[in-house]
Amino acid sequence: MSKIYNVGIIGGGVSGVVIALELAKYGINNILFEQEQSVVNGPPFCHLHAGGNLYPDISDEQCRLLMKQSIEMARLFPQSIDERPTFISIPKTEKYTVENIQSRLDMLVDYYKSLIQEDPKNKILGDPKDYYKIYSKTDLNTLVDLPTVKRPITADQWMTNAIKLVDYKQLKTPVILVQEYGWNLFRLAAQAQLALNKSEHCNLKTNTFVTDIKDVRTLNLEHNWEICTADAVYNVKYLVNSSGFKTGTIDESLHINSERLIEFKAAYVSKWHPIPGLIPELIFHGERGTPHGMAQLTPYCDSYYQIHGMTENITLFKNGLVQSKADMVQPEFNDGITQKLQHDWDANEIKIRTENAIEFVGKYIPSFTTATVGGPPMYGAQQISGDDPSLRVGEVRFPSKCYARSEIIKASSALTVANQIIDNIEDEGIVTKITNHIKTNALLDSINTQDIDLLAKQLAEERGYPGALSKLVIEKNKINNDIT
Ligand SMILES: Cc1cc2nc3c(=O)[nH]c(=O)nc-3n(C[C@H](O)[C@H](O)[C@H](O)COP(=O)(O)OP(=O)(O)OC[C@H]3O[C@@H](n4cnc5c(N)ncnc54)[C@H](O)[C@@H]3O)c2cc1C
Repeated sequence: MSKIYNVGIIGGGVSGVVIALELAKYGINNILFEQEQSVVNGPPFCHLHAGGNLYPDISDEQCRLLMKQSIEMARLFPQSIDERPTFISIPKTEKYTVENIQSRLDMLVDYYKSLIQEDPKNKILGDPKDYYKIYSKTDLNTLVDLPTVKRPITADQWMTNAIKLVDYKQLKTPVILVQEYGWNLFRLAAQAQLALNKSEHCNLKTNTFVTDIKDVRTLNLEHNWEICTADAVYNVKYLVNSSGFKTGTIDESLHINSERLIEFKAAYVSKWHPIPGLIPELIFHGERGTPHGMAQLTPYCDSYYQIHGMTENITLFKNGLVQSKADMVQPEFNDGITQKLQHDWDANEIKIRTENAIEFVGKYIPSFTTATVGGPPMYGAQQISGDDPSLRVGEVRFPSKCYARSEIIKASSALTVANQIIDNIEDEGIVTKITNHIKTNALLDSINTQDIDLLAKQLAEERGYPGALSKLVIEKNKINNDIT
């Protein structure tokens, strides 16, 4: 008789791998299917979002959830967290007010303190009193005359380096520096893949596309689902659909009705001349989807910078957001976007969009206009459950017995989803109650930094990106960047 797995997971994005690793931690056997040759190979992520400060329009509740979930994930994957801060500003042309942002930051500081009180190990974002710092026009006028600091440590040093480049006359004051960190996808992918390969309890099947699922729950067998691939059928008791923006395809095949939006977006990789000191992530807020949407510059090592511009000719795309219909649970993109998702971008479009992005950032950082295309875009499609495109936190749903659908919108929700699924698996009687819940994951902890460095670089290069994108600008107790 063929083996029966407790859990079958479709999709090895951040959600699928975290579920598999957490199940493996408790000795719950599982099989994980990923159609690509390596895991975490779908849409990119580069911001931890610990506080949601990149989104002036979301609710306080979503900001708190993003902070809590981000801290949990940063504790699980510390080697992929880039501890450089974020500069937040509002151009004078924009509707947002610094006062609103500041009162939300005060709320977040209190919340962060309460998380540290619950567990001192939650102190991932530094001391709560340093979570953010406000800079008036007078402060900026003083800092701009100070010398650049090659490897800044204090908030003032980071701000000095930033403000020397930014045309701050265009910005409302005060501006803010906040401990919102970066998140390196290649490093997370590498650590997860190495840990899954070591695991006795997870059978990781990369290069394996799930073609069909058979529901055998009424047949009184020992298993409930049969997962079909091109050359085999796998029997599982519990099914997890973590197929990202394709979750509707599986729902459809199981005749489960659900509603979702799917959105295609891209960030651009640019290369600039070396600058004398490290800079924080730079955010210039603006109304999403308008020609003056948010501009966002993310520093990487070796003079590479990633750019988001929340306008239709940079990060967003015409018809890039589509919704399911009454008779179509899985929404469909048009041919142009589908082609891009199949890694078939027109070279000229890459050049034009990257140059648009450079020019967009150049409005606020005039010297940045000398940057050039540094690699292919980082792009992909993601799902947003329901019909509200401004939602930033999604978790999990259990639409049917022994079936879970992951609906994460931000990568930081992956651990919360894994824990909720484990609770449901216990409730469904697939496994006995776990009495000793542990926050760490020994499998992940057993992977050493050198192995992560090597595989992360290999994954970046295999996917067509500069190897430098696999390094952290700031690691705890170590600075990698060769900035001279
Ligand atoms: C441009 C852009 C920037 C973003 N930036 C951030 C950010 O800074 N921070 C953040 O937290 N989030 C960010 N996101 C969102 C983030 O990328 C997603 O939330 C996250 O990747 C979703 O993870 P997932 O595991 O649910 O889905 P995915 O990563 O999409 O994983 C699903 C996997 O399932 C596989 N799959 C699908 N169908 C099958 C099948 N039938 N058989 C086998 N395998 C299958 C796919 O190959 C894929 O690997 C960004 C998204 C985009 C598009």
